[in-house]
Amino acid sequence: MTRYEIPAEPPAAGWDIHCHTAFSDGTMTPEGMVAQAVRIGLEGVAITDHDTSAGWGDAVEAAQRLGLPLLRGTEITAADGDVSVHMLGLQYDPTNERLVNMFATTRRKRLQRTRTMVELMARDFPITWQMVERQVREGERTTVGRPHIADALVAAGVYRNRSEAFAGAVSAQSKYYIPTPSPTAIEVTRTVKQAGGVIILAHPGDRRRNSTLLSDERIDALADAGLDGLEVWHRGNEPDQRRRLLDIARRRDLLVTGGSDWHGEGKPNRLGENLTDAATVRRIVERGAIPLV
Ligand SMILES: [Zn+2]
Ligand SMILES: [Zn+2]
Repeated sequence: MTRYEIPAEPPAAGWDIHCHTAFSDGTMTPEGMVAQAVRIGLEGVAITDHDTSAGWGDAVEAAQRLGLPLLRGTEITAADGDVSVHMLGLQYDPTNERLVNMFATTRRKRLQRTRTMVELMARDFPITWQMVERQVREGERTTVGRPHIADALVAAGVYRNRSEAFAGAVSAQSKYYIPTPSPTAIEVTRTVKQAGGVIILAHPGDRRRNSTLLSDERIDALADAGLDGLEVWHRGNEPDQRRRLLDIARRRDLLVTGGSDWHGEGKPNRLGENLTDAATVRRIVERGAIPLV
């Protein structure tokens, strides 16, 4: 196999491999995502909803019908000490027992946490659990979380939009906030590797998400556990962080990826604003347990 060339610059063409649909907190269907990817001329796209693979079937159907290559993945929420970590698990076997159990446990704990937050807010705001449930687009299959609370507060007229809600009662600094119960980043890495997948640290240099970032030492520990790559090309990673991450990727022979973190109308991120080059996607497919669609 030829040596992996670390791309030093963001690719001008390629794939968007970090995209959310209504199966988590995006606003569009997987079909809408694939259609838009075709329209803007992407080489391919990945579906990476938060902590679920429930949208894969719809995405596969749309990708086959519209003739666009598709990677299947999930953005998995993890923790490393007190640092909240997002990881993109791609091309894993979704029937792997250890992985299925990890997701089920996380979802059960999350639902309980979201309910408790809503109970706390109900003391001060006109909001009920039923109102939050009404904001969930794909019913049982959706990971219910803070975006849905935010949407319910907007629907109740407390805030004008989701961003305002996130700056207010839904904020991680608010008195209603309860941290998201999550598996450790090491556990997620090992589990996705066991399920035959590819595991990439999402936006590891995003200071707007985390006041404390994963240190080089912690990223090294994840690389020791089997980490495949770093998402360098992401709007949250400032230039100094991109340089640091590229250095780590070179030192540890990690893949370098890019993605928009598109959420449809839910966030300003534009589909295709950051990309992964075709050579890197080829590596991901080679390492993965399931075929490219
Ligand atoms: Zn993320
Ligand atoms: Zn994301």
